[in-house]
Amino acid sequence: MPGSVIMMLSPNVANKIAAGEVVERPAAVVKELMENSVDAGATRVEVSVTAGGRKLIAVSDNGCGMNRDDAMMAPERHATSKIREVEDIEKVGTLGFRGEALASISSVSRFFLRTRTKNDETGTEVEISGGRLIDVRDCGCPPGTEILVRDLFFNVPARRSFLKTFQTEQAHIKNMVYVHAAAYPRIAFVLKCDGEEAYRLPAAESLADRLRDLAGEEDLAHMIPFDGSCGRVRVHGFAGEPGWTRPDRAGQYIFVNGRPAAAPSVYAALNEAYPGLGEGRRPQIYLYIETPPDFVDVNVHPAKREVRFRNNSEIRQAVTEVIRGALRGGPVGMREAEPPPVTDWNTERAGACVLPSGTPPPVPPPVVFSQPELPSGDVLYGDVLSGGGSAGERGEEAKFSVAGDGLPATAPWSEFRIIGRLSSGYVLMETSGGYTVLDPAAARERVVYERLLAESAGGEPHSQGLLMPQTVELKPADAAAVLKVLPQLKGMGFGIEPFGNGVFSVDAVPDAVSGTDCREILAETAAAVINAGTRHRDLWRERAAAMAAGKAASRGAYRLSDGELRMVVEALARCDMPYARPSGGPTMIFTSNRDLDRRFGRSGGGAPGGRVET
Ligand code: ADP
Ligand code: MG
Repeated sequence: MPGSVIMMLSPNVANKIAAGEVVERPAAVVKELMENSVDAGATRVEVSVTAGGRKLIAVSDNGCGMNRDDAMMAPERHATSKIREVEDIEKVGTLGFRGEALASISSVSRFFLRTRTKNDETGTEVEISGGRLIDVRDCGCPPGTEILVRDLFFNVPARRSFLKTFQTEQAHIKNMVYVHAAAYPRIAFVLKCDGEEAYRLPAAESLADRLRDLAGEEDLAHMIPFDGSCGRVRVHGFAGEPGWTRPDRAGQYIFVNGRPAAAPSVYAALNEAYPGLGEGRRPQIYLYIETPPDFVDVNVHPAKREVRFRNNSEIRQAVTEVIRGALRGGPVGMREAEPPPVTDWNTERAGACVLPSGTPPPVPPPVVFSQPELPSGDVLYGDVLSGGGSAGERGEEAKFSVAGDGLPATAPWSEFRIIGRLSSGYVLMETSGGYTVLDPAAARERVVYERLLAESAGGEPHSQGLLMPQTVELKPADAAAVLKVLPQLKGMGFGIEPFGNGVFSVDAVPDAVSGTDCREILAETAAAVINAGTRHRDLWRERAAAMAAGKAASRGAYRLSDGELRMVVEALARCDMPYARPSGGPTMIFTSNRDLDRRFGRSGGGAPGGRVET
């Protein structure tokens, strides 16, 4: 028909377009294949990738396998064994149901499927290249399914060029396996990257065992088990102590009815469950939500499994109440929680929802925060709390001028007299033109931050060698971020070498953050890099420094010796931005003499004596 521009897309092209939705990157392929294995009832899933999944992604399982007919059907679009009728979508318990994944993947790769059911004697091998069926043949293979995806996007150069470095893609893959391993503790997982084993996780008896294998003893020691239900919602899992936070959501794992899920509506509930966390701090958590399947809408995005709830308020209440209850127990060591839900694909398929019968684990007595220790030795300054001596006398002897020249005009004080420390940990000082209440932790944070920034900019970092080089293992995404900015980290004073597989050896740290946990600082830095992106070099450098400073400065800030405190007060006066901590919030609250006069209704004259004149 002349002039007509509308054509049916060939199935091949249509598949490629759909592939863009399902298969964004190698990790998405890994996810779809692992989920098929889970749906097939596998108890063992092995993933192997080369070159970040660009060259090869292989996933094999010991699940139910397929007979020859099914094997030939499986890579067809809308071929699925999982739903028959539209209504089934409502109660679908399996992970996939669109019948799109294999069709999409095989249209953008060289795809090999080998599979056998345990009732068949021979297996079937199906070979597809760029969506074209190349061959179907008999093959020998164990019961189960193995899928090889070679040369992903070989026929879609545009998508190929969007892939990130192979480390980044590999990090995404590791993260994908991590999340699924956390979702299915009873399934054994192996991940090999370029022939090297990244994970070998035996089938676990309990969620705690799996998380211990996965996240490590230390992470788990800072997590509190919780389990309880509200109405038709059961929530359980492990919640990080309030101090065990990150500046992003990378430590928050959410599972809905056994599946890894992004559930934005849950984030607000988490914030409520943890009142009073610092600005932007996110608790680490493994949160498992069980609710009847018909309350869950998973049909939001084909690749990112974003979940919406029809009983949002119930979910929210369950999350906040159960987690709060557990947190009131305060920081505790590891305790076993209820075993996780057995992710039984049969019950899930039938749409069952298992709610707990037992009561939540007992919570230990609340923790009382001790008052900050006040320094005993060398009391240089009068202490308002202990009294004694005349203010005039001590004012004379303990008045300090900020030494050195070039003090900016905006400096909060050129001289100061520390009056004492309040039992709340704040420091009371008389300063130029009034008095100042100082938060020593915030002040130190600012000082350390500016020092770190100055040092990393000047290219002359002061670093402190560690007596014993430390081996630090980072989560995949963190490790990839750290790798990206290795030279910059060295510039900041880290002595750090990658060992591969997320493991680093650290033999020196910047002076300003010495004495803090290497792993934490590196993870924080990595998070800053991820959040700011490498392109905004200064931005991430600032954020990394802010986080590192926050960590380093908060330790023992309320226990500074008098000499140390004085150094902080002096250094703060020389900061470019002394009034606020890098993460926001004030370092000090200043009240001017004039303000006092005004409030006391005293005009002109002023209080009798005792002022620090400027
Ligand atoms: P969906 O998972 O949405 O059904 P897929 O394209 O991922 O669609 O898979 C198509 C079909 O192939 C599945 O419904 C299932 O019957 C079969 N299949 C895929 N992977 C496996 C596997 N690892 N083991 C057994 N059957 C599988
Ligand atoms: Mg699927």
